[in-house]
Amino acid sequence: MSPSPLRVAIVGSGIGGLTTAIALQQKGFQVDVYDQASELSEIGAAVSIGGNGMRVLDAIGIGQAIRDASSNLQRIEFHHWQTGEIFYEHPMGDWYDEHFGGPFLGIHRADFHRVLLEGYAGQPKLGRRAVAVNESPDGVEVEFADGSKVEADLLIGADGLRSAVRQHVTGPDEAVFSGMTCFRGVVPVDKVPGGDKFGLTFFLGPNRHLVCYPVRGGEGINFVAYVPDPDWTLESWSAKAEPAEAVAAFEGWTDTVTTMLGNVEETGRWALYDREPLRKWSTDRVTLLGDAAHPMLPHAGQGSNQALEDVGALATYLTADGLGVAEALQRYEQVRKARTRQIQLGSRGNATCFQLPDGPATEERNARLLSLPDNVAWIHGYDVFTAVQETL
Ligand SMILES: Cc1cc2nc3c(=O)[nH]c(=O)nc-3n(C[C@H](O)[C@H](O)[C@H](O)COP(=O)(O)OP(=O)(O)OC[C@H]3O[C@@H](n4cnc5c(N)ncnc54)[C@H](O)[C@@H]3O)c2cc1C
Repeated sequence: MSPSPLRVAIVGSGIGGLTTAIALQQKGFQVDVYDQASELSEIGAAVSIGGNGMRVLDAIGIGQAIRDASSNLQRIEFHHWQTGEIFYEHPMGDWYDEHFGGPFLGIHRADFHRVLLEGYAGQPKLGRRAVAVNESPDGVEVEFADGSKVEADLLIGADGLRSAVRQHVTGPDEAVFSGMTCFRGVVPVDKVPGGDKFGLTFFLGPNRHLVCYPVRGGEGINFVAYVPDPDWTLESWSAKAEPAEAVAAFEGWTDTVTTMLGNVEETGRWALYDREPLRKWSTDRVTLLGDAAHPMLPHAGQGSNQALEDVGALATYLTADGLGVAEALQRYEQVRKARTRQIQLGSRGNATCFQLPDGPATEERNARLLSLPDNVAWIHGYDVFTAVQETL
């Protein structure tokens, strides 16, 4: 008789949780996903997926569906905030694919989520807010706010920045507010001057910056506009703002920016938090993944990509010959910790460098941009499967 499959409970049905569910189901585990949300809806505009994240999506067989739902960004360009002039550009598209082993895509979060739900053979169990975890040598139990409990052999906390599972692993700690908020939205491409030519497009200026790129095959332009505001601290995918607030925050900027911000139907507003890198991610039967393990500011575009790398590493260790669950979790944590720490801290630094006042510091930064492709190769060209194989 073959042994019964490992029972895995995943708390969180975001990008990290659902990708993990697909990967572990394919390895023969019995997987259940729980989420506090009462209905499935992914909002909050778009994310960019790079070669490092795509490697994992390809490995679990959903890379093509993700490509079909995305825009393949053809170039990166940086514009001056006031004149709109391009001061640095570089091809992406085929160039990026050849150098980093996968495409660089912009994808609406709702489209990403749909592909993940199609790939998961099951339905996340909704309205289940995890509030406590009880672990013993024989198993782990998750308690939910509605009083229900489930038992599993392994628990994965993919429950985001304010993870409840994390409390079990590390004890309480505080999220760190960056002092910055962002406005987010998607604008029809014909309402953005020159939008049909956009790749991964940055507008950089004093104390503010805006990043935008096409989604949905170029039908829309997704933007994230970053503004310091120490008083606006609400962190919610669904908080709204008036478009006029964003336009006012970018007064004096090139018309391309203010027109884009003004033409959006719905603007989301989001306060940006991260946490200090964790020393410990796992116990014997519980581990963390994605933002629950390494919440980072979005200034390197790596939060989802790092969650995807986590999935590749965790799924490989859990099926490696001779490793029990506890040993697999330790190996996973070891291979992921230093890398995600470096990207977490680097993301903080990028904000400063994107928001310099015009002058010598900006000129220095612009000169450094000439080596951008080399400087990001360690992030985008990373192959998590090779990194894991080297440790086995
Ligand atoms: C402005 C902005 C732009 C970004 N751009 C990019 C980008 O271009 N590229 C990129 O790679 N990343 C980007 N990111 C980061 C990316 O969005 C996150 O890193 C990623 O979504 C994290 O996924 P996750 O699955 O770990 O967590 P989440 O997406 O936060 O999902 C967590 C899930 O857990 C559920 N949950 C939470 N608590 C509980 C509980 N107690 N019980 C049950 N369920 C619970 C939540 O309802 C949610 O469904 C961006 C982030 C922001 C804010």
